[in-house]
Amino acid sequence: MSELLHINFQAEPNALDGKIIAVTGAGDGIGAVAAKTFAAHGATVILLGRTTAKLEKVYDEIEAAGDPQAAIFPINLEGAAEKDYNDLADAINNEFGKLDGLLHNAAQLGPHTPLSNYDIDTWLRLMQVNVTAGYMMTKAVLPLLESAPNASLVFTSSSVGRKGKAYWGAYSVTKAAVENMMQIFSDEFDGVNTIRCNSLNPGATRTQMRAAAYPAENPATVKTPEELMASYLYLMSDASIGISGQQLDAQTKKV
Ligand code: NDP
Repeated sequence: MSELLHINFQAEPNALDGKIIAVTGAGDGIGAVAAKTFAAHGATVILLGRTTAKLEKVYDEIEAAGDPQAAIFPINLEGAAEKDYNDLADAINNEFGKLDGLLHNAAQLGPHTPLSNYDIDTWLRLMQVNVTAGYMMTKAVLPLLESAPNASLVFTSSSVGRKGKAYWGAYSVTKAAVENMMQIFSDEFDGVNTIRCNSLNPGATRTQMRAAAYPAENPATVKTPEELMASYLYLMSDASIGISGQQLDAQTKKV
């Protein structure tokens, strides 16, 4: 069952002071807003994504706001191999020596089509970007998460990852896989280290992905990424220490 454990959460302005937090898909949509929000609450954010120009824009906005200087690590989750993730882990280790938070946010939607017609190459691409990349990255940075006092690992889910729905294809299957991976990590961490691991379903949010999924919808009727940030701050801050293995739904509240 999904839960709203963090309703009414209000983060202190310095809630993430001193924390090193990596965000995938940090150049656009929810990931870009999450990265800027984490920085605004004191975190040093590692911006991960495939389009360097978009990451640079987020970097500049963080700098202009006077928040802790971010770091950029371009990575294409479709083609990245084990060595690329190990290089990422080495770079974080050399620069920071630990990782307090990792938000697996990047994902691809793919087409709306019956499984019987689903294109195999697209299926494999979504498995790679939405599932395997998150696994490989987590595996590579695990020692860095263990080096942080109370690291938080967050996987981004979707309502169709909790219940399969016609025509949502590989996207739906990948989100279900992400939920399962989150549960396994959480179970394996229990009693072994202090890493907590949860999934978060943002729900309908005004981004390019939402517009692609619902082209006839008026974007003004859908909540903005900014309205979700209480949930993201809750999961990345020490307020959620002790919460692990949970399938959460984002609350919608302006912060
Ligand atoms: P967007 O499409 O707006 O952003 C997706 C991000 O993922 C972009 O930064 C994109 O980079 C990045 N990305 C895609 N492919 C790759 C890749 N191969 N390598 C690296 N980065 C990649 O999506 P949202 O912000 O809407 O979604 C964020 C998360 O929330 C996703 O996990 C999504 O499934 C989930 N979600 C969203 C909902 C919504 O209504 N918006 C509802 C439920 C879940 P680039 O910009 O360079 O292409």
